[in-house]
Amino acid sequence: MMVSALATSAGVLVDALTGRPRLRAAGCEVIHLRLALPGGPMAFHLAAPERPVRLSELVPVCRYLSSQIMQSAVHDAGATGESVACRKGCSACCHYLVPLSVPESLWLYEHVQALPSARRRTVMRAFTVAAAKLFSGGRLPMLSSQDSQSEEIGRVSEWYRALDLACPLLREHLCSVYATRPLACREHVMLTDPSGCTNPSATAGQRVIMPASLVNCLAEVTAELEQRPIESVLLPLTMHWVRANLGRFRHTWPAPLLVKMLAERLTAAVRAAEASGKL
Ligand code: SF4
Repeated sequence: MMVSALATSAGVLVDALTGRPRLRAAGCEVIHLRLALPGGPMAFHLAAPERPVRLSELVPVCRYLSSQIMQSAVHDAGATGESVACRKGCSACCHYLVPLSVPESLWLYEHVQALPSARRRTVMRAFTVAAAKLFSGGRLPMLSSQDSQSEEIGRVSEWYRALDLACPLLREHLCSVYATRPLACREHVMLTDPSGCTNPSATAGQRVIMPASLVNCLAEVTAELEQRPIESVLLPLTMHWVRANLGRFRHTWPAPLLVKMLAERLTAAVRAAEASGKL
């Protein structure tokens, strides 16, 4: 888990694209986000620049918000005597299905393309091998929902687990992109013995309960803006998928609009989780 100062109920001013703290919001529109989390209220003042941006530019602030919400959820779990069991070097969940939102898939594609050439070739080879294994595993199931509780995700997860496929970004049991790992990886934190993680369905009940999933919120914002169904990209297919969809990534929207939509989705998700008794 990323270590960072926890936002407070009074709020913290952060850059709405990088998620980094700011002293002033000059030249920006500030979007106020207040979340009534079980671990205590949190507020963020998101300074969005008045310029058009691509959806993938929201990924860093989503990581920041995800880490803050996860820290609050872990803090809340700690109040009942539970603690995080995940440890460095345990890579059991790096053999699970990792669904990326569409903006994250572009972010990852561009990150890999920007690596030094020797490293890029190694990573691209790992993606090619993983994709070949996925395609050889029979008909590729399609994901149309980001809802990790859905029957569809459960069915595809079982199919994926049977392939015993390590994430192409895993290097000697460590995540090679840990600081910038996908939202789904950030939102998967266990409270129980990680040795049980080789059987994810058996440990599903002992995960830290996230009051709201940033990967879902980002996917919903994308679907609304692009007027498409909610989509997920299987991580090992990212390079393949982005190349086939590059035309989609040229679009830009005003940054304040994207940040407002994200804040609205997040607020609604936290309220819905509370109303459903999930928290
Ligand atoms: S991106 Fe990193 S944390 Fe996520 S599955 Fe791959 S290696 Fe594991």
